[in-house]
Amino acid sequence: MRANVWYGTEQLRVEDVPDPKILNPRDAIVRITSTAICGSDLHIYDGYIPGMLPGDIIGHEFMGEVVEVGSAITNLRPGDRVVNPFPIACGACFFCQQSLHSLCENSNPNAWLAEKLWGHSPAGLFGYSHLLGGYAGGQAQFARIPFADVGPIKIPAHLTDEQVLFLSDIFPTGYMAAEQCGIREGDTVAVFGCGPVGLFAIKSARLLGAERVIAIDRFPARLRKASQWADAETLNYEQVEVLEALDVMTGGRGPDACIDAVGMEGHAHGAIGSYDRIKQSLMLETDRPPALRQALTACRNGGTVSIPGVYGGLLDKIPFGAVVNKALTIRSGQTHVQRYLKPLLELIEKGSIDPAFVVSHRLPLEEAPRAYRMFRDKQDSCIKVVLKPWEQVPTVKAEEATNRILH
Ligand SMILES: [Zn+2]
Ligand SMILES: [Zn+2]
Repeated sequence: MRANVWYGTEQLRVEDVPDPKILNPRDAIVRITSTAICGSDLHIYDGYIPGMLPGDIIGHEFMGEVVEVGSAITNLRPGDRVVNPFPIACGACFFCQQSLHSLCENSNPNAWLAEKLWGHSPAGLFGYSHLLGGYAGGQAQFARIPFADVGPIKIPAHLTDEQVLFLSDIFPTGYMAAEQCGIREGDTVAVFGCGPVGLFAIKSARLLGAERVIAIDRFPARLRKASQWADAETLNYEQVEVLEALDVMTGGRGPDACIDAVGMEGHAHGAIGSYDRIKQSLMLETDRPPALRQALTACRNGGTVSIPGVYGGLLDKIPFGAVVNKALTIRSGQTHVQRYLKPLLELIEKGSIDPAFVVSHRLPLEEAPRAYRMFRDKQDSCIKVVLKPWEQVPTVKAEEATNRILH
């Protein structure tokens, strides 16, 4: 099959790899019809995720058609159309029983690596380093799904791929980020970062009853989406001083909740931006957290800071005094996608949200390396890329393939 394979920082190749096989009775094999590039894939692309090895297949947002199931799978049959959650979860352990699927104790065979870094290991994830299980990802034509009786959700035929694909990650991720804010009527929520997860957090905050949502970014195309999709007020941090503006907009009190949808590769101007870049390049800090610093500082007393943005290691100059002295609540975590699949699919079916709204580009999987560059650099106002693994390859390659068959 064809797959998008990681070979090092900014080095991706779409190439032939062996097809996945059923290894365990609870496995299924899915033929992937749509897959997407996640903002967190860019951390892999940019070389910030430890535990990657050349040859790893990446990607964790995918859906498709079941083509084969293991002997213990009774809930799925070949031909079923499914969306697959990015964390791998057994469904039966201490954490799975509490619907904390991204903390599953049975899905990371390399738990000892993660324990060295974080004390305890979270669940294994698709296509996200050997630290998190070394599972082949879903930017490919097929994938093996472990614990297929727990993860994938069946999709009715009348919904398109793009309406449901983001149930695999960014819709539940944005939704959980907003849910963690404990939104009450009249609340104001500030969302730092209007990439795909930020946009879903903004829309979800609205669905959960926030009266005002303030969207913060520097790319006009993203801010436009935030205001069109969820009627968010917008702040471009290249034009205004964000902390001042948030205070003015909230009568000096600050937003009731702040969401950091930026994560480890944050961007900032001035001294603090240079500080992070230098320290990160010297490996004196692993992550650049300007958005988190601002979220903690901006949030009102007694408010909540929710962090769906991915951080990996050690962060500098975190104003922890603000957490204690303002009695802040911090909520975070990889998304427990499995527990959101059904309720969020219902919201899509009811028409409360159309996730396809975030898609800006559709490309064949063969173009993955170009698509990553475009998404990372926001070329052509790129917001979200969907890759089609079975779409026609560029003409020359198609001809070569035909020749190979003929001779
Ligand atoms: Zn993701
Ligand atoms: Zn489990």
